[in-house]
Amino acid sequence: MYDIQKIREDFPILGREVYGKPLIYLDNGATTQKPRCVVEAITDEYYSVNANVHRGVHFLSQQATELHEASRETVRKFINARSSNEIVFTRGTTESINLLASSFAESQMKEGNEVIVSTMEHHSNIVPWQLQAEKRGIVLKVIPMNDKGELLIDAYEKLFSERTKLVSLVHVSNVLGTVNPVKEMIATAHSHGVPVLIDGAQSVPHMKVDVQDLDADFFAFSGHKIYGPTGVGVLYGKEEWLDKLPPYQGGGEMIQNVSFEKTTFNELPFKFEAGTPDYIGTTALAKALDYVSAIGMDKIAAYENELTAYAMKRLKSIEGMRIFGEAEHKSGVISFLVGNIHHLDMGTLLDRLGIAVRTGHHCAQPLMIRLGIEGTVRASFGLYNTKEEVEALAAGIERVSKMF
Ligand code: PMP
Repeated sequence: MYDIQKIREDFPILGREVYGKPLIYLDNGATTQKPRCVVEAITDEYYSVNANVHRGVHFLSQQATELHEASRETVRKFINARSSNEIVFTRGTTESINLLASSFAESQMKEGNEVIVSTMEHHSNIVPWQLQAEKRGIVLKVIPMNDKGELLIDAYEKLFSERTKLVSLVHVSNVLGTVNPVKEMIATAHSHGVPVLIDGAQSVPHMKVDVQDLDADFFAFSGHKIYGPTGVGVLYGKEEWLDKLPPYQGGGEMIQNVSFEKTTFNELPFKFEAGTPDYIGTTALAKALDYVSAIGMDKIAAYENELTAYAMKRLKSIEGMRIFGEAEHKSGVISFLVGNIHHLDMGTLLDRLGIAVRTGHHCAQPLMIRLGIEGTVRASFGLYNTKEEVEALAAGIERVSKMF
């Protein structure tokens, strides 16, 4: 059973008010709220275990290291990686993609080589490639989409050539909610001998992800979008790939031996983890993954999908409603505009009613250009949202609409 009341009680912030109204938090695509157990994991470790990891002989350091490495194992299991050597801790999706873009382009690409991305990428899966494009003369190819917000698979297949070195693709759009058929798209890339990086920032929190089943070569996600702390994320990479790639940053932890003449690098995954890691953050991330696993990712997905279907139906009944993103396979992100009301006005007035939504281009300006708009209002759901909150959102939109 999905005990929504009990789940909500695990998140103290959901009990607060804003402007004297109960908070309705519908900005989960930006970041999620944290259950008590995640916050407690942070304070507990600072109070009772804190010590730098991997280098100390002393008791606390060993205990902190054990916690940190146990968290890596929790992540491994959560996404079903083959080995914990394949789990690199980063600061988040953005850093994971920058790491890969830098190391991959440096070692695997030369001028004129191509990376395939899609129309619906977040800036964090566009700009790192453009930085490499400027440095090394590599070229971005873009998969187009239809008006429902679905990628055109035929066009995708035609983008491959002998110049294609990587596909870097968002799993779930943070604007449209489209769930891309990444398993099939990865198989297509592999049939051309091309590896694939999946941006899983918006998928991992909402559905079961199995990197081996997808056969993803690389997979990035952020802890803070899956009820974990800010500042911690993951880059998964197949061991045979990570072995081939050069380090991203240099420093402590990532070396085997350093002399002024020559430095040798540490084994995986430490080769990619220069400096003191956020070992408190990784413990808290593991707690968050344990938390959602205890509820069950399949149950969370089913609950959120039902809520999304309900919300789509209810919002569509509002006069002047335009929804962006009506893909067959859609997760809990609804972007919309109503009549001629500016997205910022709608967001600001909903906020006054206690409803937290996001407005703007959502770090996806190329997608906004494709849609022919400047921005949207975006409601994005998490595992604790309810139909009552959807009703309040709909009533809020209707109330704001009448003011214009
Ligand atoms: N990709 C997608 C699809 C996202 O939604 C986001 C966050 N909005 C990111 C990447 C970047 O994540 P972070 O800011 O946690 O690095």
